[in-house]
Amino acid sequence: DVQLSDRVNSIKPSPTLAVTNRAAELRAAGKDIIGLGAGEPDFDTPEHIKDAAIHALDNGFTKYTAVDGTPGLKKAIINKFKTENGLDYEANQILVSCGGKQSFFNLSLALLNPGDEVIIPAPYWVSYPDMVLVADGKPVIVTTTQAQRFKMTPAQLEEAITHKTRLVVLNSPSNPTGVAYSLEELAALGEVLKKFPNILIATDDMYEHIRFNDLPFCNILNACPELYDRTIVLNGVSKAYSMTGWRIGYAAGPAKLIGAMKKVQSQSTSNPTSISQVAAQAALEGGNECVEKMVVAFKERHEFVVAALNEIDGVDCIPADGTFYAFPSFQQLIDNDPRFEDDIALAEFLLNEAGVALVPGSAFGAPGNMRLSFATGLSVLEDALSRIKKALQS
Ligand code: PLP
Repeated sequence: DVQLSDRVNSIKPSPTLAVTNRAAELRAAGKDIIGLGAGEPDFDTPEHIKDAAIHALDNGFTKYTAVDGTPGLKKAIINKFKTENGLDYEANQILVSCGGKQSFFNLSLALLNPGDEVIIPAPYWVSYPDMVLVADGKPVIVTTTQAQRFKMTPAQLEEAITHKTRLVVLNSPSNPTGVAYSLEELAALGEVLKKFPNILIATDDMYEHIRFNDLPFCNILNACPELYDRTIVLNGVSKAYSMTGWRIGYAAGPAKLIGAMKKVQSQSTSNPTSISQVAAQAALEGGNECVEKMVVAFKERHEFVVAALNEIDGVDCIPADGTFYAFPSFQQLIDNDPRFEDDIALAEFLLNEAGVALVPGSAFGAPGNMRLSFATGLSVLEDALSRIKKALQS
């Protein structure tokens, strides 16, 4: 029997991928399953982006690139930050990685010593705590409630800070809640962070472009520019441009930290795929019309899903500000229905009895809720919601 490391034993496989796989298994076994677990847009990657990749391939752009990304892509990223976010970066402050996932992984390995604490508001993206654990850090989970729209308050943040706090993670709009912080709320969190100059801040802006109101996007640096020297901005093309399989994410921040993350990456994957980098550059330089089209569809589905969920007895879903997730509370239903001990039992029931795959909220540090991804067509969503309602009320 192989003895595994304590490190790997301390983490679990991604639960969202597990749900997707379980749905695929049941489907392969002939069951009629609607998968609402996946965290990726259902649209094809836009044509002009694919064309750029085909062109790169035809022209032999198939070799190693610079570890931190091609000069062309880095320039496009610098330009994106300047024009879309009002943020200035030099080339040595940018690192391109194999997806947003690797960006955060690099950050954890480059920043954390054993026992260093990382403040993660819950509900959180499933991978943050485990990536902190892999780096021997300690996730410090700050629980937020649906009543506070799943947003960490300045008082909660301050209470969670200790002399060991090294990093605070913000993700807005959030996976899984879809909720976004306002500029004022970020400014208030910034006021707390200003008092603790040794703490770094990671702002994960992966869902920047998938928002349902007309307010401009904002992150902590827009609210609090004084934090520039200790904030790392994480973003990528996966969600905005429907490019999850291409594996391109990027980070911007203090040159020293970015350099350290680059060193980690140079000893693991080296550069992200050369062809994908060309595609990502085309995405960033090609305008956001293609994104806006997808957002129109997400917005329509969001309205349908939230209304349909709220029609089910014992279910309470707040509207999101963006992303392609709804995060309804099933707590009242779980409390009142002896069939369900918890959200995991409920997810299992819905998969078996309704043929609908959702991710239990406990995967995101929020038992009692469920994540429903509406990155799928409206008619499928209508079918899924009526199946859920029927199974629960049977
Ligand atoms: N950050 C958040 C909040 C996410 O939801 C995801 C994907 O699920 C990522 C980062 C990573 O995206 P990728 O590694 O696919 O670029």
